[in-house]
Amino acid sequence: MIGVRPELADEQPYGAPQLDVPVRLNVNENPYPPSPEIRAEMAAAVAQAAAAVNRYPDREATALREALAAYLGHGLTAERVWAANGSNEVLTHLLGAYAGPGRKVLAFTPTYSMYPEYARNTHSEYLTIPRAADFTVDLPAALAAIERHQPAVVVIASPNNPTGTTTPLASVRAIAAATEAVVVVDEAYQEFSNHPENTALNLLGEYGNVVVARTMSKAFAFAGGRLGYLAASAQIVDACRIVRLPYHLSAQSQAVALVALRHADEMLARVDELKRTRDEMLVRLPQLGVKVIGSDANFVLFGEFENRHDVWQRLLDQGVLVREVGPAGYLRVSAGTPAEMEAFYTALANR
Ligand SMILES: *Cc1c(COP(=O)(O)O)cnc(C)c1O
Repeated sequence: MIGVRPELADEQPYGAPQLDVPVRLNVNENPYPPSPEIRAEMAAAVAQAAAAVNRYPDREATALREALAAYLGHGLTAERVWAANGSNEVLTHLLGAYAGPGRKVLAFTPTYSMYPEYARNTHSEYLTIPRAADFTVDLPAALAAIERHQPAVVVIASPNNPTGTTTPLASVRAIAAATEAVVVVDEAYQEFSNHPENTALNLLGEYGNVVVARTMSKAFAFAGGRLGYLAASAQIVDACRIVRLPYHLSAQSQAVALVALRHADEMLARVDELKRTRDEMLVRLPQLGVKVIGSDANFVLFGEFENRHDVWQRLLDQGVLVREVGPAGYLRVSAGTPAEMEAFYTALANR
């Protein structure tokens, strides 16, 4: 039988290990499930959707996109918002529409490990430029790379995963002004930022090539619901509509996400607490003899370990799962509940 495409031959599926351990601080989830009242409303919404499950769902997810536009503010409307099964799918739609064979995607490393996979899956060439020493995008290097490589898509994660670093809006603006490329600002963690108002949503009116990607998986405590979205020009949204599979968002996904959005305040209620938990790590980790990198997200990088895999395993042996990712010698840990954090600190002290 024929083998897979040659570029897939030695590939492994994306895999943060999903291990059933007591303390899971490895994929930046919000550790707090919704209240019983919201759960009941979600269940009722699913039951209502079930009454029409013989029919295809709204292909355009109009009600959901209206709700997302209202949540984002900035004068956005449904025509300028796109939604899909996680921002992973949103980004795949964008690359499907604007990258592809003979086109290049530029990103700034270290950054999100899925970007090269989206590029590969859409047959695009993936180029990277190292970030500056403080992990912001190195603006002169970025502008030089854009000039030299003429990418079709530029992706900037801000706050960045796995470093937690925000790239100043002035740098994003300079990049957007310097290229015809689609400039995607992946703001998966923006709600956790110390300055959430400094969002690239502020640039949408000025630059038609800017896209802001968001997700309900992190601050919104909705990772299991699989709902990501973007805000951009209507033209870019229309391009995503061309490449999406028909009826990509199930009726259940749309209905449950609408309930979550209706209760946005409550779904986001723990964000301030999680920010304090993150900031506390900046104090407590050095007390345990490790360096920690300042973060605007709900996780931090800590190290440096001569053998980070050993430390990862020692923590896991004590029931604490963190992520082996990022610069050499570092591990990443998500902000959890107070009990989870104490378990993490204790395990790290016994490393
Ligand atoms: C978690 C994350 C996402 C979002 O993933 P979903 O598919 O929406 O769950 C996107 N970008 C970055 C940088 C992330 O860390």
